[in-house]
Amino acid sequence: MARIVMKFGGTSVADLDRIRHVAGLVEAEAAAGNEVAVVVSAMSGETNRLVGLVDALDADSCQGAAIEDEYDSIVASGEQVTSGLLAIALRRRGLKARSWLGWQIPLRTDMAHSKARIAEIESSAIGPSLKTGNVAVVAGFQGISDDGRISTLGRGGSDTSAVALAVALKADRCDIYTDVDGIYTTDPRICHDARRLNRIAFEEMLELASLGAKVLQTRSVELAMNNNLPIRVLTSMADVGDHNPGTLVCHEDETMEERVVSGVAYSRDEAQITLLSLEDKPGMVAQVCRAMSEANVSVDMIVQGISRTDNAANLTFTVSQRDLDKALEALDAAKNIIGFEGVRFDKDVTKVSVVGIGMRSHTGVAQTMFEALAERGINVEVIATSEIKISVLIDSEYTELAVRAIHNAFQLDATTAPKVSAP
Ligand code: ADP
Ligand code: ASP
Ligand code: MG
Repeated sequence: MARIVMKFGGTSVADLDRIRHVAGLVEAEAAAGNEVAVVVSAMSGETNRLVGLVDALDADSCQGAAIEDEYDSIVASGEQVTSGLLAIALRRRGLKARSWLGWQIPLRTDMAHSKARIAEIESSAIGPSLKTGNVAVVAGFQGISDDGRISTLGRGGSDTSAVALAVALKADRCDIYTDVDGIYTTDPRICHDARRLNRIAFEEMLELASLGAKVLQTRSVELAMNNNLPIRVLTSMADVGDHNPGTLVCHEDETMEERVVSGVAYSRDEAQITLLSLEDKPGMVAQVCRAMSEANVSVDMIVQGISRTDNAANLTFTVSQRDLDKALEALDAAKNIIGFEGVRFDKDVTKVSVVGIGMRSHTGVAQTMFEALAERGINVEVIATSEIKISVLIDSEYTELAVRAIHNAFQLDATTAPKVSAP
């Protein structure tokens, strides 16, 4: 007998038929004698719909009062519905099951509403309930903040709920069921040659997730890595008993395949800002970064171009698209302190990245990547590297072309077509 956490994303609980199907998968694990906790997302599209309602009302005025606490209580409601529905579907199959909301567990978070971090999960109520054969159906994505309000963990946060619950319950397994049958060498929806990986190292998955591969939320991978909890990513579309090996996300020494590059990720949530004619002097970049951090905006890629003739520099950096307006306002307010002549920005940019732990010991990765882009006439605007990744910023128009070209250049392609269900 094992203790298992199973997580089902939005497409997996998209309608009542899918919820019935999920109930069948859960029943099979319980029937095998396991203690089962299930974490569910909202039905696919529901969180976007709720966010749209908040945004529409928010746009009525520019009065500026923070609304993130109310945003959380609204957008968390999607998971409340699916946890209740799945508990009913399980009871109709004769299982003992109940739904758990974040505050009932309780799953405690900090006060950073809309992107809260988990502080603690009490397992004192849910653990004994599992022992008596009750299936716990937990609403993902939500918790309770220090001030007793509903909080949410950022988009895609149900993955983090599942991993955190698995850690708190000392689960033997954490299975993340989704609409693809594992982690691929790149997003199988835009590259049909993508290949499912049997295993991937935590560090690689962490990079891929933070660089845009939305299949797992970055924090869930971080949490699993820090707690030595392997995660299996597999499809919820399979039937009970089907061969469904998925991908194991685990420590590097347990990944058996030797490869230089493991995957290609892309992120369209990028905006590029260029400050024109800054004075080229020590502390100038620090002032720009200070203005951004005071506005709570994270700066990602940075490149500086210096003109040798007039001692002036142009500074280009990227921020998330949703932070662009905030960033431009902060720069405008700090214009006299920083001292620049003008600002340009561009939202039609995408960051494309290659990731692989083999890059630590192999050279030539950058050359292969840049040649693949050059052969297709794709211009690279900004470059950023780390020990195991290289990222480039390109015109969004070339996103698919660039991902496929790079994927092909590193021969990551598959021999069989990926299994992707309709969204
Ligand atoms: P869920 O609703 O189950 O949480 P998500 O939509 O958040 O699912 O994540 C699954 C999606 O992630 C897939 O449909 C796929 O398009 C996308 N994806 C991006 N990169 C990858 C990758 N490298 N491997 C697998 N899926 C990926
Ligand atoms: N429903 C939330 C979202 O769409 C959380 C999740 O699906 O993981 O972001
Ligand atoms: Mg997700």
